[in-house]
Amino acid sequence: MIDVAEICKHIHPDPSWREAAQSASSALTAHMSNLNHNHDLYTALSAIIALPDFKNWSIEQQRAATLLHRDMETNGIGLDAAVRSKVNALLEEVHQQTNQFMMAAHGRPMDHPHAWMILTAFCDPSEVLPHLGEFRSVARLNGGRIVLPIAAADYCLKNLPSSALRREVYIAHHSPHRLAVQEAAVERIVACRQQIARILGRENFAQHHTAQCIAGSTQHVRTFLTKILQGLQEKNSTKSAREVRELKKLKCDSERSIYGQLPLPPLAQLTAEQLAEVDATQLHPWDAQFLMGRLKASRISPALLHTMRDYFSVPNVIEGYKLLARELFGVELRQVEPHEHEDWTACLRQRGSAIDRVDDEVRKLELWEGDKMIGVIYLDLYRRPDKYSHAATFTVRNARQTFWIPDDAKGMDSPDISEEERQRLREERAKNPLPRQLAVAGIVCGLARPSSSTSPTLLHQAEVEMLFHEFAHCLHNVLSSTALQHISGARGELDYVEMPSTLFEHFVSSYEFVRRWATHHDTTGKRAGRVLPKQLMEELIQSKRGCETTEMRQQALMAMFDQMVYGPDNVPKDVQQQKQEGSASEITELDPKEADAMSERMHKIHSELYAAYAPFKLPPGDQLAAATKPYLHSIHLLSYPSSYYCYLYCRVFSSRLWSDLFSRSPLSRSSGSLLRHELFAVGAGRDPMEILRRIVRLPPDASLQQFVEQQVQPFINKQQRSIGGGRKNRSTTT
Ligand SMILES: [Zn+2]
Repeated sequence: MIDVAEICKHIHPDPSWREAAQSASSALTAHMSNLNHNHDLYTALSAIIALPDFKNWSIEQQRAATLLHRDMETNGIGLDAAVRSKVNALLEEVHQQTNQFMMAAHGRPMDHPHAWMILTAFCDPSEVLPHLGEFRSVARLNGGRIVLPIAAADYCLKNLPSSALRREVYIAHHSPHRLAVQEAAVERIVACRQQIARILGRENFAQHHTAQCIAGSTQHVRTFLTKILQGLQEKNSTKSAREVRELKKLKCDSERSIYGQLPLPPLAQLTAEQLAEVDATQLHPWDAQFLMGRLKASRISPALLHTMRDYFSVPNVIEGYKLLARELFGVELRQVEPHEHEDWTACLRQRGSAIDRVDDEVRKLELWEGDKMIGVIYLDLYRRPDKYSHAATFTVRNARQTFWIPDDAKGMDSPDISEEERQRLREERAKNPLPRQLAVAGIVCGLARPSSSTSPTLLHQAEVEMLFHEFAHCLHNVLSSTALQHISGARGELDYVEMPSTLFEHFVSSYEFVRRWATHHDTTGKRAGRVLPKQLMEELIQSKRGCETTEMRQQALMAMFDQMVYGPDNVPKDVQQQKQEGSASEITELDPKEADAMSERMHKIHSELYAAYAPFKLPPGDQLAAATKPYLHSIHLLSYPSSYYCYLYCRVFSSRLWSDLFSRSPLSRSSGSLLRHELFAVGAGRDPMEILRRIVRLPPDASLQQFVEQQVQPFINKQQRSIGGGRKNRSTTT
């Protein structure tokens, strides 16, 4: 019920439905919170776990009970009512401040003085105008100055060729004066979360959060991220060094063009003097978006990129889904018309909405195994007013057994039985399946609609990657065969559930897979049925490689900053002292002076971290630039507190899974079967390390932490040889 309310409140076109779903979701969340703090339930659960017979329960049952018990403890079941209400008040404040942040980030009325920026760098304004795109019409020339809306900042940072002008945009965009509301909200949110962690008996929020993840500890996450950051420094990585030199060369050339000079010859043909000029060029934070975009674009022509889209239509992607489901997992995906009552956009048609092609708003895919339907996936792919705009997979209903036969489940899960015996039980269950609740999931995103009602939506490769990423989340839900819905599908730890989705991104870079469904969208002309040319795919892959290590360094820096902001680095010394003296649980009020101190600490953490590891560094002595706070634009700091590392972390596993199981034969049924039965089917019903041991060959006595730390270098090396995953932002739900 709560899952249905969640998707409904985010995507339903009718505001009265959204409001009703919001209130249902709030009421059910409050009810669940009450259950999670119910002492009678906790006492009963503790007694069950202490039973001598508990170890004879099925692994699924044991895991559901221990996870629930752990969640109750980490969320403060032992707190007395007064402290509990303090925690609730802090959580409510996090919620309120997040709303404040989002409203401020949304923009300001144009008559607000902070809604505009003035660029004063010495240049001829008329030379800047052609680079302003859609903002050209709103730019005002005032003497030697250009006045632009601050909303143009991102566009300018990507497109203005002058580094001096980009610096001015960067300073205006990231100035703490303009970001006062966001800064106050971030400080308050971080302070509240740190406070909650201390009340719950932890030293800091990062420790509290990572204890509930498979990483287990913030120390391990930091070791992991440090290994990546160090491994990708220019002195340790030839690929990084090459990328940085290419970025410097591009900066050199763009600066030369401003002064009417010719660009330098290609890197391989530079004289020693020219090479010295390139190497002496400094890369700064305001260069990042412009130069990285240029470097990637230099590997592939815009015309080719456009041609590529002709092969990536939405119907083709659905064919790719069907192929993957059939070849890897032996299940059939059928696209069927949704019933009127299933299509939440039907109300738009009834009202004669101006939205085109409403018949395509909601697509329905049924998953069949033999003559039995095993799951349903809805696709709601297009942008709509008031619709959730990011890519995400929503669980609508989890799979579960509708009644419980412990002995059967125990037999299947027991670590003591042989593989042959497990197979025999599997076959037996297939013959006499237990009644199950059908799993239903939905992929939601905000794709642009096709330009004409007669042609399909054509996608960029990154969008195709995103759709396969989300498809893996869906399969994790619908192929789950756990008896209990609490541990069904993608309900597992945050730093584990992105493993299948990042694995599926690899498929989109495999020509052997893509050529089976990427045909030209023109179905009538001479290009009808033409398969995506291999050459085109290879060029795209080269372009994706263009900035791989630099992008990964930027991502690892954001993840490390997130760990530090919620870690011990951002806890006042006197509070750390109190913790050591055992009085932390008595701290219930936030110190009003703490906001200023936190602001300083966060700025210092950011400056020192980026000075040590960033490829784009602030120039020494630039006081204005040094005062900027770019992290106040980072929504992930609020949405994924101390968990932004999850993507990189899961990529380490999925990279290993890809190379072990699929790289040589992407449609291998035996690898698919392993993935289906040992990963998708078990959902969160088994220890992730146990799941990994069954899928990839691991040293028998290695801990998960040792395994990950050992995999970092091979993972980095692999990025230097082949295509990694996509660079999309994380979807919200899973
Ligand atoms: Zn995801």
